[in-house]
Formats: sequence, C-alpha cells, structure tokens
Amino acid sequence: MVKARTMAINGFAGCLSAKILFWLIAASNHCDPSPEIHLEAAERAVSFNMKIHEYQAKQILARYGVPVPKGEVANTFEEAQAVARKLFAEGAPGVVVKAQIHAGGRGKGGGVKVAKNREDAELHAKNILGMQLITHQTGPQGQKVQRLLIEETANIDRELYLGIVLDRAVGKLVFMASQAGGMEIEEVAAKTPEAIYKAVIDPAVGFGAWQARKLAFALGLKPTQINQAVTFFQSLYKAFLETDASLVEINPFITTKDDKLFALDAKINFDDNALFRHADIKALRDTAEEDPLEVEASKYELNYIKLDGSIACMVNGAGLAMATMDIIKYSGGNPANFLDVGGSASQEQIEHAFEILLSDKGVKAIFINIFGGILRVDRLATGVVSAARKLNVKVPIVLRLEGTNVEEGRQILKDSGLNFQVGATMKEAAEIAVKAAKEAA
Ligand code: GDP
Ligand code: MN
Repeated sequence: MVKARTMAINGFAGCLSAKILFWLIAASNHCDPSPEIHLEAAERAVSFNMKIHEYQAKQILARYGVPVPKGEVANTFEEAQAVARKLFAEGAPGVVVKAQIHAGGRGKGGGVKVAKNREDAELHAKNILGMQLITHQTGPQGQKVQRLLIEETANIDRELYLGIVLDRAVGKLVFMASQAGGMEIEEVAAKTPEAIYKAVIDPAVGFGAWQARKLAFALGLKPTQINQAVTFFQSLYKAFLETDASLVEINPFITTKDDKLFALDAKINFDDNALFRHADIKALRDTAEEDPLEVEASKYELNYIKLDGSIACMVNGAGLAMATMDIIKYSGGNPANFLDVGGSASQEQIEHAFEILLSDKGVKAIFINIFGGILRVDRLATGVVSAARKLNVKVPIVLRLEGTNVEEGRQILKDSGLNFQVGATMKEAAEIAVKAAKEAA
C-alpha cells in the first residue's frame, strides 16, 4: 500500500516543501522515508499551499521583529535604479540584486548578484530582470523574472539554516536548525541527517525559550548572539502560528562579522484552508508565478495539479484521485495530472475540467474514474458527452463508473454514439487507458 501510494507521489517531486519535509523528517526520524512522502503529496492534493515571494515573506517577518536586511522590491529597471541609489546614499557598502520568483536555488542559477557600486547594481538589474531563470526547482523551462529585491549587503560571517514545518508523524510543529546553511538542505538531510537539530513543539505549551536556547547553542552561536537568537527563533515561530503558515524557511540565516543575526533569505508557504481569515495574505498571491492551467482550474474550484505523464485523470474525491494515479502507475502508465472535480461537480465544471485537461499537450488519453455519490453518474455522463461533443475531443476517453444511477449513466454514454471505452473494474479501465495512451503516443 505504502509503495503504491509512493508511486503516485513521484509525480509531485517538483514540489519543494514536499521534498524538504520528506527528507528532513524522514532523516531525523531515522525511519523508512516512504510513509511520509505520500502524506505531503496528499496534503498538496487536497489543500494547496500558497507561495509568496521572498520580499513579501521578509515584510511579514519584519512585522514580527525578525531582523531582515534593508531593501525594497523593484518591478522595473527604473525602480531598481532608484532603490540602489537610495541604499548607497544611505551608506550601504554594497547591494545585492535578487530575482523574485517562487522557486529557490536562485543563487546558483545566476539570480542573486552582489554589487559594490551603483553601476554594477544597474548592470545586474538589467541582466536579471526579464531573464528566464532556471534553477533546480523551476524545471528546465525556467521562470521569467518580473521583480527584483534590492537589499543592502550583509557582512556574512556564517550561513546557517532554520525551518519550521509540521511533522505529521508526531502531529506537532518541528523547529529545525542546521549549521549547513546556504546550500540545498535536501542534500544535507539525505547525506548527513545528524547535521539537522530539531525541537518538537508541544502545541499546548508553545515553543519554549529553553528549546530556542538549546538550538542556538547547537548552532555554535557565540554567547553574545544567544539571546538575540532566542528572540529571533521565537519571533519566527509566532509568525508561523499567527499567519497559519505551512512552512517557514530561512536559508541562509546568517551571523555577521559584528555579531548580528539576519534572515538573508525567507520562504513562507500558507495553508490555503486558513486563507479566508487572512485577507492581507491572500492578496499577496502572484498568479504570474503559478502554472497557468492550475490558475485556470482554481477559477472553477477544481482541485487540479499538473504532472508530466500522458494519462489525464478526472476523478471525484481526493482519495480516489490518489488511488487512480497509483493504479495508472501500476498498469505501466503515467498520470498527466491530479484532478478532483469534487463531490458535487456541475456540468459546467466538468466541461471546464475537460478544457483544462485537453489544453495539456502531453495528454494522450483521458481516464474518468467516478464513484457516484452526491455526484450522480448520469449527471457526470451527460456532462462528459456534452463536453466531448462541444470540444470535439479526439483523444480516447476511458471510463470506470460505479455508484448512484450507474446504469442510466452507462446508457447515456452508449446512446451518445461517441467512442467511449468502459472498464468493468478500476484495474481494467486503467489498463485500457494505458494501452490507449501508448498507441496514441
Ligand atoms: P536562493 O539561492 O534562491 O536560496 O537565494 P538566497 O537568498 O539564499 O541567496 C543565495 C546566496 O547568495 C546566499 O546563500 C548567499 O551566499 C548569497 N547572498 C545573498 N545575499 C547576500 C548578501 O547580502 N551578501 C553576500 N555577500 N552574499 C549574499
Ligand atoms: Mn536560500
């Protein structure tokens, strides 16, 4: 079972927090990592985690008293010029020009550049703004840089790591710290798990000062930095709680040559299910950074995540969607997406769902797996027939239908005269879909 679920999850491997959570928790628990990975993927499937930019995360953290370098966002070259000029005029020894995209690894990809004077800052701004930045998290196509953060440079002494995530195995938040900051933390967790210190937080008691102090000592901070660090860590925890975050990560968390502490980078993801009570945070969403198909799907309240396979899935219920992806994998295919049309999808939603599935050029077959409960099978069938006609669907459609009004549903498909293939069981339908996709490829 675990293996089956893990297979479906491989499709989610592009998700940063999933990977981090998986490695960090698995590594630090010294257990087989596979049970953890599907939980995070399932979470991503049923509840999206909204991402924001580094500059936005730093603005939030600053409100909680977390020290961040002085700086401002710039949407155009002229704005970047003005910010750099201002920082130098105020005495900055240098500025760092940072690409703002919803992905990490920007430094390695050429999206973070330090400048000692205004001319260099302008040169970097010109080069980075508008570039297609490729990092290990963007995929090979990269992400277009539409914003910059221009900050005063820090006189870095050490680069450390801080992170707060929910550990589902223990059902508590975990505060993590490591001396191996500034690099890919997934790698640290995989190769040297002992290099990550963690404090499990009891929700009834909160994050204790003693825990913060223990982490500060483990990081090898100087005596003069310990109290600052305790305040820093506690502010970070407070920010996590009060914003209903699902991930807070500071990589690197730095010490400076004059013994100060700063969040040099900042990443915050939010639990979508709590966004209704944070209108200010919801407003920070930048759809330009998201997959266009996922943005389109969210307009119709469809729970859609694009993946790289060739078999599109249309399913009702997140659990069934996970199982469907698993069975496609078992049958030798690859899912092109996760799509949960919900328990009570309307005909209109089903049509939109089809449009979204079909605009993915990698799709070679569609597998519709519906258990009719609140969403009756006949209504689904009517929606499918109408959408297939309207959109002139050419790719093979394979269905597996069960539940309320299943006979009526099958009849509607038969009477349509369209070429639907129906599998008697989930397994059979999956096999037909995999075969159809392979023939079409
Ligand atoms: P990421 O690569 O997307 O995680 O971006 P970061 O914000 O973490 O920046 C990457 C690296 O750039 C950091 O680990 C630092 O080594 C370097 N960097 C960022 N800001 C500064 C700065 O103000 N001064 C110096 N010297 N280096 C910086
Ligand atoms: Mn970073």
